[in-house]
Amino acid sequence: MIDYQNQTLAVDGVPLTKIAAEFGTPCYVYSEAALTAAFEDYRASFASLDPLICFAVKANSNLSILQHFARLGAGFDIVSGGELARVLAAGSPADKVVFSGVGKSEAEMEMALNAGIHCFNVESVNELARLDAVAGRLNKVAPVSLRVNPDVDAKTHPYISTGLKDNKFGIAFDQARATYHAAASLAHLKVVGIDCHIGSQLTDVTPLIDALDRLLALIDELASDGIVLEHVDIGGGLGIRYTDETPPDIAAYAEKVAERLAGRKLKLVMEPGRSLVGNAGVLLTRIEYLKLGDEKHFAVVDAAMNDLMRPSLYDAYHGIVPVEKKAGVATMTVDVVGPICESSDFLGKNRDLAIEQGDLLAVLSAGAYGSTMSSNYNTRSRAAEVLVENGQTRLIRRRETLDELLVNERELLAK
Ligand SMILES: *Cc1c(COP(=O)(O)O)cnc(C)c1O
Repeated sequence: MIDYQNQTLAVDGVPLTKIAAEFGTPCYVYSEAALTAAFEDYRASFASLDPLICFAVKANSNLSILQHFARLGAGFDIVSGGELARVLAAGSPADKVVFSGVGKSEAEMEMALNAGIHCFNVESVNELARLDAVAGRLNKVAPVSLRVNPDVDAKTHPYISTGLKDNKFGIAFDQARATYHAAASLAHLKVVGIDCHIGSQLTDVTPLIDALDRLLALIDELASDGIVLEHVDIGGGLGIRYTDETPPDIAAYAEKVAERLAGRKLKLVMEPGRSLVGNAGVLLTRIEYLKLGDEKHFAVVDAAMNDLMRPSLYDAYHGIVPVEKKAGVATMTVDVVGPICESSDFLGKNRDLAIEQGDLLAVLSAGAYGSTMSSNYNTRSRAAEVLVENGQTRLIRRRETLDELLVNERELLAK
């Protein structure tokens, strides 16, 4: 896992100094042992329910990481045809894939129907109509779950961002029953389940359990209408520790879910993302310049908002630590910033660090929504990615060359 050994930060025993020397910076480094441990925590905690644990691919879609989860027995939650191509390339059986998202195109539906995915998580009446038409054209029947918006009380849980009435996700709870009837009447759909996903980085499971209770009440109403569901998908959303959060205890969560599902013939599906990968990775970066001012000091590093967008996008906090703990270096308070021409290009503000120009820093908890959100802004190659497996390092994504950044574009014709 990720800890200091002889004053140097190491991933699964490999010093990050060695990884920086071999692969350069900026570079994402992941611990395979930490990925496995996070998955096994879910599997062991929920063992009595034998769930389908669908890793939310958007959190980290590197092929090697998907392949690792596929080998552990995970399914996948995808949100695009591109992510479907990735999980199939990673060797996942299509029937362990659920397809979420509010804007599925006809081409994406066709691709998923031809692959034979487990289920479409449908988010609107118009999506149902489109899916029915596409399935009909292909002479197939699409397995369908409705993403229901449980409208969990925002007053008690103000941090929830996707489970409330006024956001774009899901079907309003009070329209759900009628929408199920509409779905059941369409010839090329088979209603198989129900799903919800109420938000991300939750540190309390109460709203998740409240949401499940609402879904179960709806499942009972539907059963009395003759619509019997096979599975309930409780989404993802469990938080991780970035600084001083106390993430939920997965075993305690599992126990509450198991109580609710006892005596029911419902298969459990879940869609964890961040909690499977977030703390398994760091972003390794080197200090290009220390820039000391009268009011403020800056550590200008070679990673930037294009590599890790969360601080700029959500004002998210990531721990930042020196890779080497050096004796006799004074601590100073710095903003850790990148080279990009935007004032929002920062990785951390007002950090107390004992550092010198040229030192390596590790941005912690960068395994989720890090690499997947990266871009080529400022014509910067995206960071390399390295996986440490049993003390061996493996480059799982090489840094793009500058030629590759230009290859899809065309010059003006000669005049
Ligand atoms: C993003 C997402 C997830 C994963 O959320 P985490 O907070 O990373 O666990 C699961 N389901 C859906 C539908 C999502 O959009």
